[in-house]
Amino acid sequence: MFNSVRTRLTVWYVLIFGALLMMFGGWLYWLLARNVHTSLDQMLANAVRTAVIGFESQMIENNHDPRIATAHTFTEFNPPGQYLAIWSEGKLLGAQYFDPPHASSASHLEKLVPPASIIADALREPRPHLLTIDDVEVDGCRMAALATRVAGHDYVIVVAESRRETMAQLRSLRQVFFLVIPAMLLIAGLAGWLLARKSLGQIAVMTEQAELINARNLHERLPVNNPRDELGRLALVFNQLLSRLEHSFDGMREFTADASHELRTPLAIIRGEADVALGQERSVAEYKESLAIIQDEARHLTRLVDDMLALARADAGARQLKREELYLNDLLVDCCHAVRALASHQGVVLNLLPSQDVLYRGDQELLRRLILNLLDNAVKYTPRGGVVTVQLSQTDDAITLSVADTGIGIPAEAVGQVFERFYRVDKARSRAEGGSGLGLPIVKWVAEVHGGDVVLTSEPGQGSTFTVSLPR
Ligand code: ADP
Repeated sequence: MFNSVRTRLTVWYVLIFGALLMMFGGWLYWLLARNVHTSLDQMLANAVRTAVIGFESQMIENNHDPRIATAHTFTEFNPPGQYLAIWSEGKLLGAQYFDPPHASSASHLEKLVPPASIIADALREPRPHLLTIDDVEVDGCRMAALATRVAGHDYVIVVAESRRETMAQLRSLRQVFFLVIPAMLLIAGLAGWLLARKSLGQIAVMTEQAELINARNLHERLPVNNPRDELGRLALVFNQLLSRLEHSFDGMREFTADASHELRTPLAIIRGEADVALGQERSVAEYKESLAIIQDEARHLTRLVDDMLALARADAGARQLKREELYLNDLLVDCCHAVRALASHQGVVLNLLPSQDVLYRGDQELLRRLILNLLDNAVKYTPRGGVVTVQLSQTDDAITLSVADTGIGIPAEAVGQVFERFYRVDKARSRAEGGSGLGLPIVKWVAEVHGGDVVLTSEPGQGSTFTVSLPR
């Protein structure tokens, strides 16, 4: 049960709310209790002062006869529900309890005997002294004692009142708390549970929906009720993740489809050639011709598979950069040397502009591949009589390699796509030239993996320029 977030949230909510409610209730009860006790004390202190003033005037009026003054004080000062007693030097002059007019139950206050300690305290200090006596009544009683000195004699007057009413008030307050707090907790728990259910209901819907998504229906998305709340944001992020997954799945699917398609043609040629060659007895020259075609296609296949492998490793992040110090100008000379034969065969002039020594820390094998792919393309797509110009330059923070040709150029709408895998502007021409549409994606990947990029500017019919920038 506690594995449910809803239950845990509700329990925490009720616990915290209950603790706060209890703290608040306790504090409120303590404040109210202190208040009712203080008002009873104040009322008793006032009453004892009034009684003392009354007694003093009765003494003056009655020639300082304490017995007559006491009797008159009782007649005059007869507060209902209070007990009044007058002491003089250890002797009780009189004590009386004044029944309230509609008393519901008899009071035991008339039997009250104030303890000697309060009399002594009152005589010691002329201010009202207060004391609680518990054993007289059910809730005890509270008394106030005040001393006065009249005609050389000390008198102590005690006023007492039952605490029944005060305690009854506090008792009903406690009862209210004991009823209200559990009721409030119950309501809060229920409200919390419903609230948690409402908020988490959305998660349940999302979970159900997410469970239904697999490789075949990656286009499905989670419902987003409010994109600005937490759950909405979670659904959005999840949907973005799905979009990225869908994109890479599509890429993989496309790559597989394109790769199979690319592999099919050379394999079909090899098989066709072999079938034709083996179909009947042929001359040595014919066999040689067939084998040359098969060799050519096998070479093409090897390159294709190499390129696919390179990109697959790049995707998997499995190809670690093997950075080493190298002179890019030397590497460029090497690569130009490698394509020079092809260039002269095509009737294209390969022009490598002189450059200073350019020291760079990079992966020699990958950089060689980058340069060869660019040079190979430039030569392939430049008609006889054209020029390919290669230039290497450097600044403090970047190295720039540009390969410019005066070839067929690339139409503006294809400029953004030539770096995509298997994309070719003219499929037939590319195939005839031995291309597979993976050369430029590899160039882009090598540049990016070195922290750089490659930019293409091209004018159809005029030529193309590929500029690779590598940060130092
Ligand atoms: P390919 O193996 O077909 O050359 P690439 O990825 O190297 O594949 O190039 C993709 C396409 O871009 C080519 O098929 C070609 O249409 C175009 N392209 C690349 N380089 C050049 C260039 N220098 N001049 C004209 N077109 C080019």
